[in-house]
Amino acid sequence: MARLPDVLREDLAPEHQELMKRDITLYRCLANSPNALRAFQGLGQFIRYGSTLDARLRELAILQVGWVARAPYEWSHHVKIGMDFGVTEADIHALIADTEGRPATLDVVTRLVLLAAREAAAGPGISAATFEALRAHFNNEHMTDLVVTITFYCAVVRFLACNQGGHTMAGRLAGKRIFVTAAGQGMGRAAALAMAAEGGSVVATDKDATKLSGLAAAGIETHALDVLDDAAVLRAVTSAGPLDALFNCAGYVHQNTALTCTDADWDFAFALNVRAMWKVLAAALPPMLDRKRGSIINMASAAGSIKGAPNRFVYGTTKAAVIGMTRAVAADTVAQGVRCNCLAPGTVDTPSLHDRIAANATAAGGFEASRAAFIARQAMGRLATPEELVQIVVYLASDESAFMTGQAVVIDGGWTL
Ligand code: NAD
Repeated sequence: MARLPDVLREDLAPEHQELMKRDITLYRCLANSPNALRAFQGLGQFIRYGSTLDARLRELAILQVGWVARAPYEWSHHVKIGMDFGVTEADIHALIADTEGRPATLDVVTRLVLLAAREAAAGPGISAATFEALRAHFNNEHMTDLVVTITFYCAVVRFLACNQGGHTMAGRLAGKRIFVTAAGQGMGRAAALAMAAEGGSVVATDKDATKLSGLAAAGIETHALDVLDDAAVLRAVTSAGPLDALFNCAGYVHQNTALTCTDADWDFAFALNVRAMWKVLAAALPPMLDRKRGSIINMASAAGSIKGAPNRFVYGTTKAAVIGMTRAVAADTVAQGVRCNCLAPGTVDTPSLHDRIAANATAAGGFEASRAAFIARQAMGRLATPEELVQIVVYLASDESAFMTGQAVVIDGGWTL
């Protein structure tokens, strides 16, 4: 839980609002002091765009700090950025292996940069021997830029850890095998990363395999899977198993009413949001029952049986069914060591939400007005980030929630208050 309040773009005076062009966790807390955020961003901008230090080495140094500090946010965020700057999946596997003292294929300079980042992150600083060895490869300007980069990201991870009550990756899911559907973007992806960061052995699947890129670098196994294909579901779930947890996330949000919903909308919504969810959990259940353990986490929504939401006719109907299915499965499995719960989120800032905002833009009087209407639904006056939302998935997949089954956990920024 963040100790300093999150500050959003709209909370800031007009002259500071441009600071929140990127709405990321770090900026939300630093924005409590806009000038501190501006100064922080200035150095961050220099590191990424002003320095002539090799971009791949720079990103590997940052990733190394994130890995040593066991900072889930810095790690997952920078895996994606690193790949934009030339870091490969092989580099990331080598970084992890090198950190753990296992053999890794790395050239001399990369190995020295990683060592320097590890020494600085562990404190008090880069050792004399490493510093001297690096000087053979970098001029004074690049030595300075490298040290600035490493120590800046040490500051970032310390700042986040201070603000998040010292929250770091704690291995809450160590030893657990976890399957995730629709993990290419949005909450499925955020959950896959959060669970891998907690030590889970995660299998991430999505209909669109291209969206899974970058996950393997975080130690996640990835496979294309369209959950509407029963045979493929059975194959994928069986070969990934036996599973300790399943996050059944795939779903589609139709915007319609009882009068505008078509037969095709109805059939598609029930096929994806309800039937496929059943097929995936039915494939995962037998080994869970045999082993007398397992946690199934379904994706419902606050819209449906918890809250009637306008223009969500078939969507709300299917998500109400998900809550019913969750309770039914929980009742059938409670005596056999298996738990089944679901999430009922409010409005979460994911790629498909952007599509819905855009689809409503004309009627609302523009994209910003449409976005404002979605935000206004949440009593807290903001959208959820996928990263904060999926902390409940980590909890439900872990043994911390061992006494909990059949529940629909509402996380909605006060929408249903
Ligand atoms: P999203 O809608 O942006 O992404 C959905 C992902 O599902 C995509 O990567 C897509 O490729 C994948 N997908 C689509 N059809 C698939 C299929 N047949 N098989 C496998 N993968 C498929 O992500 P999101 O907004 O986080 O939504 C995920 C779930 O959360 C959905 O069930 C949605 O109903 C639910 N939900 C979303 C919100 C929200 O505000 N975003 C709120 C409550 C519940």
